[in-house]
Amino acid sequence: MFAAFSSLRQHQRNGQRSPHKPLLALLALGRLAATGRSDVPWSVAEEQLADLIAEFGPASNTGRAQSAAYPFTRLRADHIWVLDRDVDDDKVSPLRAGVTGRFEAALEQRLAADPTLAGAVARALVDSHFPPTVAGDVLLAVGFDPEVSHLGVPSPTVRKRSAAWRTSILRAWDDQCAFCGFDGRLAGMAVAVEAAHVRWFTEQGPDDLDNGLALCSLHHKLFDRGVLGLDDDLAVTVSQRFSARTSSGRAVYEIHGRRLTPRPGTQSPAVEHVAWHRRQVFQGSPLK
Ligand SMILES: [Zn+2]
Repeated sequence: MFAAFSSLRQHQRNGQRSPHKPLLALLALGRLAATGRSDVPWSVAEEQLADLIAEFGPASNTGRAQSAAYPFTRLRADHIWVLDRDVDDDKVSPLRAGVTGRFEAALEQRLAADPTLAGAVARALVDSHFPPTVAGDVLLAVGFDPEVSHLGVPSPTVRKRSAAWRTSILRAWDDQCAFCGFDGRLAGMAVAVEAAHVRWFTEQGPDDLDNGLALCSLHHKLFDRGVLGLDDDLAVTVSQRFSARTSSGRAVYEIHGRRLTPRPGTQSPAVEHVAWHRRQVFQGSPLK
């Protein structure tokens, strides 16, 4: 069962993030868990899948419908997805005639027979494509509750995360958020300060000291969601797509342009990892 979906990993190349097919599979899994059937009419995909790709995919100039048509037609090549009409790959207009996609029949049957299986497969899929700060948001967006216990099954295919790397990053950055300086402690231990990968762990980001930052929980989340990034001078950038109304929300703007100040001996993030994050994660253009 998990193997049927693990082939979706193989579509990555050159460090390019390709969450399109996994997001379609997740959308169908969510519908199957809710209704017993994985059917996704194109009219639904054109809205909901396009939204998921816009929210959780890399920034792109591809039109919304086109971005959804790509996985909607091409997931067939992975032998887990069928369309009820024979249409060409990638073309939007034939889909508008009323095409519906669903999981291949034997797969659908196995998933429908075990009510917890769709959730476990969804968990494995998000864990292999998104960092933990983002995975829960994706699950929620497709209708799963990430707090439910059977969704906690760790995927056997996911690379092991290193506890030692986390400790080394926090020590290197002195248990402080590299963006805002937050250094909260509870009973002598850093609290709400986390080790963040610059190039995602799920996207071949190494557990190296030049691929990590200590970030407070808020800035870690915003960094992984592409609201925050780094420029070539290692100054923090805020995406123009981010908005906030209250003064605490708008406080995020205050770190725009702030340079990282690692203490002596601490490695700054490597240029190539920073560039990967900018291309694959950061949303749109930075504030001026
Ligand atoms: Zn912070």
